[in-house]
Amino acid sequence: MMRYDDHPSGRHFLQIPGPTNVPDRVLRAIDRPTIDHRGPEFARLGLSLLERIKPVFGTKQDPVVIYAGSGTGAWEAAMVNTLSPGDRILMTETGHFAMLWRRLAERLLLVPECLPCDWRSGADVAAIAARLAEDRSHSIKAVCVVHNETSTGAVTDVPAVRHAIDAAGHPALLLVDTISSLASMDYRHDEWGVDVTIAGSQKGLMLPPGLSFNALSAKARAASTSAKLPRAYWSWDEIIEANHKGYWPTTPATNLLYGLDAALDQLQEEGLPAVLARHARHGAATRAALAAWGLENQCNKPSDFSNSLTAVRMPEGHDADAFRKVVLERFDLSLGTGLSKLAGRVFRIGHLGDLNDLTLLATLAGVEMGLAVAGVPHSRGGVAAAMAVLQAA
Ligand SMILES: *Cc1c(COP(=O)(O)O)cnc(C)c1O
Repeated sequence: MMRYDDHPSGRHFLQIPGPTNVPDRVLRAIDRPTIDHRGPEFARLGLSLLERIKPVFGTKQDPVVIYAGSGTGAWEAAMVNTLSPGDRILMTETGHFAMLWRRLAERLLLVPECLPCDWRSGADVAAIAARLAEDRSHSIKAVCVVHNETSTGAVTDVPAVRHAIDAAGHPALLLVDTISSLASMDYRHDEWGVDVTIAGSQKGLMLPPGLSFNALSAKARAASTSAKLPRAYWSWDEIIEANHKGYWPTTPATNLLYGLDAALDQLQEEGLPAVLARHARHGAATRAALAAWGLENQCNKPSDFSNSLTAVRMPEGHDADAFRKVVLERFDLSLGTGLSKLAGRVFRIGHLGDLNDLTLLATLAGVEMGLAVAGVPHSRGGVAAAMAVLQAA
């Protein structure tokens, strides 16, 4: 029987859009003894992290709440801290993750109203604006958007959504999921006027899964004083209170916080603008490869192209998962699967987190060889097209 860790020589290529490759320095940082989370050494770590995480979100406000939990937990936290049972919220069906968030909202007894979308672009901001303008009684309490829809590779224009809310003179909160865009695509919590930013550790932040985040606005904190959804573990207040001294009310994920410290070092050394530029270059190179192969991007609106992943449509009659299986078995390369209604129809290339030009080229070479091996109709030359983009940049 195969063991889970049987593998060929060389590194496995984990090119799914999260979890992403964890840098060696982060792994080494995690591999240290767990310390007393009520002791003085921990408080120094906690205080430093709570400060150093802020620029990644583009916020100077206190605080960024850090949870031991997956991204889904941070979705829930954003809602239970700001909303009340029966509250109407406005969402857009940009893809699988927007739909999961809607289901979570329904389970919390919120009343989501979901604007349609073809799963091939970001949210339709004009439709959001129109709905808010109509809502003269201000029954909509929050607008929720997924910044980077990881199932389709489509980006929503968050500043435009903010503008739509303001132009309508609407008091709704703006909640934004940045789980697959933070630290890989431009994002500015304060400047864009976001009320709650939701993030996770395992994508652009280059950590293993297990931490998630809420960045807050003053308006979100004010809303939390009257919000009536039941909340316990996710309650901001107790965490913020304990954070003042560098602690958490419950046992924090100490070793993941060591990892976060190392990941922040790496982001700081490269510089956030350079990190974003690298992702932009890798997004462009991947799209050049797609064009050369003659394959179609699931996102069909160039202004909405994601720089952290590309969802590739399979030619009719070819199964994306059969192709992914060939690529994994032959080249030890993991590509992202198609989710819910895109199952079998798309595969996703993750190009976010800790990667460089050659990592991307090797990934694209694995895809190009896999297309040939699996007999998927395509033109050669995708890797060459990506090389041309990368060497020019
Ligand atoms: C990965 C992802 C999630 C889910 O996060 P979990 O950590 O699996 O709970 C939610 N939203 C988006 C946009 C994602 O990419």
